Amino acid sequence: MGVESAFGDSWITTTIDSVLNWGREHSLMPMPFGTACCAIEFMGLVSSEYDISRFGAEIVRFSPRQSDLLMVMGTISYKQAPILKRVYDQMAEPKWVLSMGVCASSGGFYDNYCTVQGIDDLIPVDIYVGGCPPRPEGLIEAILKLQEQRIARQSVLTQPEDAA
Ligand code: SF4
Repeated sequence: MGVESAFGDSWITTTIDSVLNWGREHSLMPMPFGTACCAIEFMGLVSSEYDISRFGAEIVRFSPRQSDLLMVMGTISYKQAPILKRVYDQMAEPKWVLSMGVCASSGGFYDNYCTVQGIDDLIPVDIYVGGCPPRPEGLIEAILKLQEQRIARQSVLTQPEDAA
């Protein structure tokens, strides 16, 4: 059955933002930036038990140029800070950042001279997931919230220039 016969004389209207955001929401390409134990929990998230492909975030990429969701998992030292910033800068717009666990989000219990006390000192963070480590259910909820609260509300008119 073609579109014409299915809808008769009816028309469907939408906006460019709705169509683009719908596509972006459900085709996330996460890049894991794992430095410590939280990265182990990420393996559970992408495995068949929790299966983030159900939520449109299946295709894990290890190149910043092919990713739009940077997932930072673990302690970030000041020595690693320029590397994280470089990886973030290499990602094309639009892009989002998820901070997984207390170490990435605030330094956690590594309150010392060599640990960054939260990656938002280095790069903008869209969503934080608490826990040590966060459970996969918490990460799934964070991805859903990111889709609903951030990606679905974007506008092509307000995105950075290289987002087009
Ligand atoms: S939050 Fe806990 S599990 Fe995650 S990297 Fe820090 S110590 Fe490891």
